Amino acid sequence: MPFVSINPANEKFVVQYPAHTPEQVDEAIKNASIAFSRWRGASFGDRARLMVGAAALLESEVPVVGELMTSEMGKTFASAKGEAMKCAMTMRYFAEHAEAMLQEQSVATVGSRSGVRFDPTGVIFAVMPWNFPLWQVIRMAAPTIMAGNVVIFKHASNVPGCAKYIEELFLRSGFPPGVMTNVFVEHERVSSIIGDPRVVGVTLTGSERAGRSVAELAGTNLKKCVLELGGSDPFVIASSVDMDATVPLAVTARIQNNGQSCIGSKRFIVVRDRSEEFLEKFTGAMSAVRLGDPMDPATGLGPLVSKAQRDLLADQVTSSVAQGAVALTGGHALEGTGFFYPATVLTNVPADSPAGCEELFGPVAVVYVADDLDDAIRVANDTPWGLGGSIWAQDEREINEAIARLDVGLVFANAIVTSMPELPFGGIKLSGFGRELSAIGAREFTNAKSFFVA
Ligand code: NAP
Repeated sequence: MPFVSINPANEKFVVQYPAHTPEQVDEAIKNASIAFSRWRGASFGDRARLMVGAAALLESEVPVVGELMTSEMGKTFASAKGEAMKCAMTMRYFAEHAEAMLQEQSVATVGSRSGVRFDPTGVIFAVMPWNFPLWQVIRMAAPTIMAGNVVIFKHASNVPGCAKYIEELFLRSGFPPGVMTNVFVEHERVSSIIGDPRVVGVTLTGSERAGRSVAELAGTNLKKCVLELGGSDPFVIASSVDMDATVPLAVTARIQNNGQSCIGSKRFIVVRDRSEEFLEKFTGAMSAVRLGDPMDPATGLGPLVSKAQRDLLADQVTSSVAQGAVALTGGHALEGTGFFYPATVLTNVPADSPAGCEELFGPVAVVYVADDLDDAIRVANDTPWGLGGSIWAQDEREINEAIARLDVGLVFANAIVTSMPELPFGGIKLSGFGRELSAIGAREFTNAKSFFVA
């Protein structure tokens, strides 16, 4: 089966690549193993020089790769360019900091010399999603490669142009062949790659379903595994919120990346004494979001990635409304060309309706009213996921309460949850395990090797 991308804004063909044959995949793993045997011995300085070169090349091509991202998965051109710049910044960050993050640590024992080293482990296989087609791959690869490992990645099948671009970016900037390799493979072939003895670890960013499948294969083969899965992040609005400053950010938190972000705020939980004001202002701002051509700078919200995703979201909303939810704005897919769905606000959502218990991967906000902050945190934690969460308050006590008690991997106060190279990124519960970014992420696929000299 070929790997094909279709522009979700106009349903036109973008690009197509044939699937790799089993022989080509075997060759890719062989080349990656050979590359690792040399790359592991490269100095941090040499690795950093190549990583900075790749960042500079990417920076020089931001509009080109931005347009490619927009055409393959529909994100706004402005956000696509921002994503490319963030990738370059992160590559530079790990080029600069990886050596310190992975420095040998001395630990005092009865020996004359002892401590921990962070040695590279080998070929890491990454299964990646389409929603941030450059960032998800670079977020994993920049620290992993700086640590001395090499990467083989299987990107989502609907963004083959981005997959090819990433592989070529590394090759064109002088990385040895085999350090960063794209494979076009279907799901059935993932198991043989994870099972290959030359592959030492696997990481997946994507859905819970895919995560379970990959984790099972990693378990069967006893391979180290990191999972970055879905979420239904709470956006908690406390009594002391600065409402006028918060509402525009609430809209951005929900519609960013056309509503298709794992750390997009999906549940808005507002305390009763501020709920009327929030609902009125938030609904007004969501209705004003401009839906349209993602290449147009005036567009706030582009299409969903595919017809299947748009229809799934439409079904989730329609079923929830049939069960008693109320759509204050939006609530119906747009007719015509492209996979458009408007910014939508739902209230009175029954717990057992799709909007009450499933991830909504599109621009649909669910608003809950809580008695007080204590109740809001209870609602926020009443979910199988635990990726990110945010608290919106002026009172330091309310902020600290939420930071301590939200059951999530990332909590932000008066700021939209985001990933940044300095901080670990990852979730708990059904949102996955392991961390990317920061020193913790850079060490995930290293061997924390203890040493002791008598
Ligand atoms: P997906 O369907 O799970 O796809 C992600 C990747 O996994 C793709 O490369 C896909 O390949 C592959 N895949 C799917 N099923 C597989 C299987 N059974 N065996 C092997 N590989 C498999 O997810 P998505 O729809 O692209 O992304 C949306 C989900 O990802 C949402 O739940 C979102 O919250 C989550 N996400 C999480 C994070 C995070 O950092 N925590 C970031 C972004 C997205 P094909 O494309 O070939 O199907």
